[in-house]
This record gives sequence, structure tokens and C-alpha cells, in this order.
Amino acid sequence: MPRPILATIHLESFRHNIKRLKQSNPQSNLWAVVKANAYGHGIERVFKGIQAADGIALLDLEEAIKVRQLGWRGPILLLEGVFEARDLEMCSRYHLWHTVHCDEQIDMLAAHKTHEGHRVFLKMNTGMNRLGFAPHSYQSAWTRLNALPQVDEISLMTHFSDGDTANGIIHPMEIFDKVTQDLPGERTVCNSAATLLHLPSSNIPVNKQLQTSSDWIRPGIAMYGASPDYPQHTAQDWGLEPTMTLSAKIIGIQNLSAGDSVGYGSSFTAQHDMRVGIVACGYADGYPRICPTGTPVLIDGHSSRTIGRVSMDMLCVDLSHLKSSGMGSVVTLWGKATNGAIISIDEVAAKAQTLGYELMCSVTQRVPFVIEDLDL
Ligand SMILES: *Cc1c(COP(=O)(O)O)cnc(C)c1O
Repeated sequence: MPRPILATIHLESFRHNIKRLKQSNPQSNLWAVVKANAYGHGIERVFKGIQAADGIALLDLEEAIKVRQLGWRGPILLLEGVFEARDLEMCSRYHLWHTVHCDEQIDMLAAHKTHEGHRVFLKMNTGMNRLGFAPHSYQSAWTRLNALPQVDEISLMTHFSDGDTANGIIHPMEIFDKVTQDLPGERTVCNSAATLLHLPSSNIPVNKQLQTSSDWIRPGIAMYGASPDYPQHTAQDWGLEPTMTLSAKIIGIQNLSAGDSVGYGSSFTAQHDMRVGIVACGYADGYPRICPTGTPVLIDGHSSRTIGRVSMDMLCVDLSHLKSSGMGSVVTLWGKATNGAIISIDEVAAKAQTLGYELMCSVTQRVPFVIEDLDL
């Protein structure tokens, strides 16, 4: 029997989250952001769940080709554009749209021999200071691109550093609107945080300018059912459902007496008699070692907590109050239990001083995945 640990991908939740994002932004097209192998879920695994997206956005040429081979005929956007000149041949061959964020990428395009007119997304740096043209050089980059026979259509793009705060996009949006006001082309500015906090869908006052500026939204984390601004809002507040469940079974039981410790470093000592479950999940599966005693888990769908140190292959949970749970009980580390109870990946991530993003991306090779598709 394989080690009893499992990552379950919920295609229904993808459909729900995409619908939720689209319904509240009916004026926008939606890029399903599937970089980093669909935030650790696996592009092939999620593919059937994201069919309602208008396009698929990612970083890696190999991932883009995989998406074409899976049968996707719609738009694909390379969010960082090409890394070297011959990547452009692949863009021509597979009809990939690509970001242009620097002069070197324009040089490559100018030298590219193609019959295929390229659709490019010209990126402005509005304060993130990673990729993109400075506002003062944006228009000249646009003019240069527009003069190239290799370029068919230019769209306009930026990426916010502070989309998850109430006022975080006001200044960058002013810059973006001012510089692009006389330029034609579709606009894409919003990641999950900006989409949820600042578009009309939001329960927070709407930034009117943004409504007209978002032809394409680019949700990543929200599509995977985690909250981009936890703990201000939970995924539940945003009406999102988790797309990944990590669960494992209890493979051992210990009965501790007051004064007994459990796990490496004896970091947890029982204050009174306790029943402890040993779970087949550890940091080598992607569960953060840093999670302290008290990190929430569900055991057969009921709330409990971890105790002691997370080790490579195991962690320990408190069974004291769960009389009917024991050997073989299912422990949900994040995601959905079969009784419908949910433990949010954001909550676990917060205990590990990180984000849901990182936990999803960190489930390791040795964990088997299954796909749950309620639409069969
Ligand atoms: C990753 C990424 C996104 C999606 O971000 P989320 O915070 O996951 O919604 C959007 N746009 C760009 C350019 C990205 O790199």
C-alpha cells in the first residue's frame, strides 16, 4: 500500500472560482494564471477545470507548449515575454502572445523573421520596479513596436506591487492611465488582489478609473481559492473555494501522560493525559516544518491542532477530544474534508509565516495527486 497521503485537485472549485470572478467582472476577459505548474497543482490536472477562462497566462515556454498540446486553442500569454531570440519562433509557431518589458525584447522582435503578426503586451513599470518600461519611456517603446511589421497588435499592461491594500493601486493607476490615455489597445492591470479589492465586484469603494481600464483580469491565487489579502479577508469572505486538499491518514497512536513529550526536541509536553495521532505527512511532503503547535487541522472533518515539531515524514495531532477518531482517520492539512468542513490554506500559511501561494507550490514529488471532477 502506498503511504497514505494525498493531494486532491477539485475541478469543481476551479469552475466555481472562475465563474465567481467572471460574474462580478462581466466586462473583463479572464486570464487563468497557471505559472509554476498551475501554482503547484499541475497544468494537466487543472486543465479541464479552467475551460471557462478566456486565455491562459504563464511564464514558461514549455508550459505554453504543453497547454497547446492539451488542446487549448485560445489565447496564451507569456507573462515575462521571451528570454532569447529563438523563443520568438515558438511564439510564431504556437500563436503565443507575449509580454514586452524591455528594449532587448523589442530588438529581438525587430530581428525576427516571421509571417505571423505577433500580439504583444507592452508592460509599464508603475512602481513594482521589477519588469517593465518606465512611464517616461513607455510611449517611445510603443511607437517603436508599432512600427515593426512583426507586430500585429499591442496591448497595455502593468502589475501592482500593492494590490492587496486599500489604496495600493491609486498612484500606479494614475500613472498608467495618464501615460496610456491616448494609446489604443486592450488593457490588463489586475491580479487577484486588485480584481477583488478594486473592481466593481468588490465590497470596497470602487475605483472608477479602473473599471474602464481592465479588459483582461489576471487572477492567479483567487482562482486557486485562496485569499490574496488574508487575514483582511478570508477566501470564504471572497466566495472562493479551495482547489487543493492535502490530506493524510493517522498511522500511529500514542497515549501520553502528563509530563510526556512528543517529537524531536521534545518541544511539546503534555499537561495532562492526551491521545495523540501520528500522521503520514511531514516537511518532505511540503507541509512547513515551521508550523508551530496549534496549527489547525481537521480530523475526520473535526477541528483539531498539530502538536510538537513537524518532522520529515510525520507530524502529530491532538486526538484527546475526538473519541471516535484513531488509526486510519483522515487528517486534512488544508482544503476540504469529506463532511464539507474547510481548513483554509491561508490559515496554515499564516502559521508558517508565509502565504497560501507558497504552500500550494511546495507540495513535493512524492505526494500522489488525484483529480476530483464532480461534473463527470
Ligand atoms: C502571477 C501573476 C499574476 C497572478 O497573481 P495572483 O496574485 O496570483 O493573482 C498576475 N499577473 C502577473 C504578471 C503575474 O506574474
